[in-house]
Amino acid sequence: MPRTRMTRQRMIILEALQSVASHPTANEIFELARRKLPSISLGTVYRNLDILAEGGKILCLNRAGAQKRFDGAVRRHHHVRCTACGRVSDIFDPPEVHTPLPEKPVPGFSIHGVEVEYLGLCLECEAKQRSKGPL
Ligand SMILES: [Zn+2]
Ligand SMILES: [Zn+2]
Repeated sequence: MPRTRMTRQRMIILEALQSVASHPTANEIFELARRKLPSISLGTVYRNLDILAEGGKILCLNRAGAQKRFDGAVRRHHHVRCTACGRVSDIFDPPEVHTPLPEKPVPGFSIHGVEVEYLGLCLECEAKQRSKGPL
């Protein structure tokens, strides 16, 4: 893993991400970082997030069909995602989930792991659905 040189901008971006547990998008991190450093640009935030992710300082949650989100917690954990609004929360120390790798080779890929994502509704979305009444 390459050592990540920490510039002041990079430090501010990292701290902004670590200050929230919401797994923000690059745009949301930009808004947070701008409070500390009003001159920072969105491009700088994108570039530094890539560098931080490559250096293993942060996680990049890249789901098919969803906006990329970033995670300041690099300790192994699982996620639960609200299927209505996309909000992501952490589940630390979850039970070990044994998901077997596919038995047959998948053409075009060498598979090196599996990640678990729990799906559900956050309390807000659940309340919204309930107030709408039965579908
Ligand atoms: Zn929700
Ligand atoms: Zn997380």
